[in-house]
Amino acid sequence: MSPHRIVIAGGGAAGFFAAITCAEAAPDAEIILLEKSAQFLSKVKISGGGRCNVTHACFDARELAVRYPRGERALLAPFIRFQASDTVAWFESRGVKLKTEGDGRMFPVSDSSQTIIDCLLRAARAANVKLFLNRGVERVAKRANGGFELALSDGEKISCDRLLLATGGCRAAVAGQLAVSLGHKLEPPVPSLFTFHIATPWLRGLAGASVESVEVSVPGARLRERGALLATHWGLSGPVILRLSAWGARELHDLDYKFPLYINWLPHLNAEKIAAEFQSRRGSQPAKWIVNTPLALWSKTKGHAQYSTGRAPLPSRLWEQLVLAAGISRDTRWAALSRAAQHKLVQQLIRTEFPVTGKSLNKDEFVTCGGVRLGEVDFKTMESRICPGLHFAGELLDIDGVTGGFNFQAAWTTGWIAGRAMAARKDIHISTWPRNH
Ligand SMILES: Cc1cc2nc3c(=O)[nH]c(=O)nc-3n(C[C@H](O)[C@H](O)[C@H](O)COP(=O)(O)OP(=O)(O)OC[C@H]3O[C@@H](n4cnc5c(N)ncnc54)[C@H](O)[C@@H]3O)c2cc1C
Repeated sequence: MSPHRIVIAGGGAAGFFAAITCAEAAPDAEIILLEKSAQFLSKVKISGGGRCNVTHACFDARELAVRYPRGERALLAPFIRFQASDTVAWFESRGVKLKTEGDGRMFPVSDSSQTIIDCLLRAARAANVKLFLNRGVERVAKRANGGFELALSDGEKISCDRLLLATGGCRAAVAGQLAVSLGHKLEPPVPSLFTFHIATPWLRGLAGASVESVEVSVPGARLRERGALLATHWGLSGPVILRLSAWGARELHDLDYKFPLYINWLPHLNAEKIAAEFQSRRGSQPAKWIVNTPLALWSKTKGHAQYSTGRAPLPSRLWEQLVLAAGISRDTRWAALSRAAQHKLVQQLIRTEFPVTGKSLNKDEFVTCGGVRLGEVDFKTMESRICPGLHFAGELLDIDGVTGGFNFQAAWTTGWIAGRAMAARKDIHISTWPRNH
């Protein structure tokens, strides 16, 4: 029987995973991968600061799915079939061992994204995937008798039985134009995973300081996240800000990235507990300057917030600024803390307000929220519900995860499912292409 031809548009994580999966499952099929740029896997190369955060050590499909502000429901069934443990096994079976960092992010033990690129290229070549650079799909038309006719950027035309679009995020709507030309609708693209610009001078003076666990919220937007925070030269960053930006990608875009941000620096304590600690300081260290004696570390023991002494919960520079921002002068001692000043300091600790005035993309990882509408795709096969024979994988879909390896996991999973589904279908025969192959 003559080969079944499958074209994959896009030589990124999703396209490669789909191509390899498909070629390994259907060795008789002709699998062509077309990349419009001069480099395969260019995002893998720069990902995770050059180390490639391949996935996250979260090995339960349900727990994994809730890390996707867009895509949670659609990804649950796919994750039951191919989740993070399958990614780990997939790379290990091809000689790439992954390691887990303290926060759950998984990287190749080499700490080099090139290891992942080499592995994917090796696997694709071993499975006889035909790889082409500088050949983008410019236009696509459905053929009357099934399959597609593609016009390529180098002037060639080819036909195929099945087409996978894995062309990446729709940062500009034009990037989703192939899907639109085949009848699909796009959720409008907006950035996800960004950091906040805040001009408050005392905050800028704290650049480099980090706090292990704070709670950030945006009033009126029902956005609230807990986690580690980092002060930067331009405002705030760190996992908690990136998560908030992912969950709030659309709302914050609609606010033109100008909104008040509240920070609770001691989220495991309430106002009464903090006030009680101040009271005890008045008695235990009345002569000490408040700016020099940050609140002691809190810890959670058996479900109860408790103090333990000896370590500061907040960097001393930050504590000093919070005290000053509450209107308490440097030379105020604990014994002289008035009720009104105490109230202001408690409020400052549990609800510092910062005016956010803009955003910057996170340098280690950024993705686009928006893309092909999920309701238009069958997640059992990643096939279009609108255009038979057309499949989707990766960031082109309206799927995006929080930071930590979840975005690649979505690319691996959707690529794997699309690859399996395309391999299982034997449709129409087309002669081989290009002619010199
Ligand atoms: C700086 C940075 C760091 C990141 N780090 C991480 C990380 O560590 N962990 C993580 O989980 N996620 C990370 N991400 C997100 C992750 O890179 C993406 O989610 C992932 O690459 C999406 O894979 P994809 O294959 O869908 O798209 P892409 O990787 O964008 O690949 C799409 C490919 O299609 C090509 N293409 C586009 N149009 C056409 C066309 N018409 N014809 C042919 N080819 C076409 C593009 O040139 C591109 O090569 C990072 C993103 C960035 C920008």
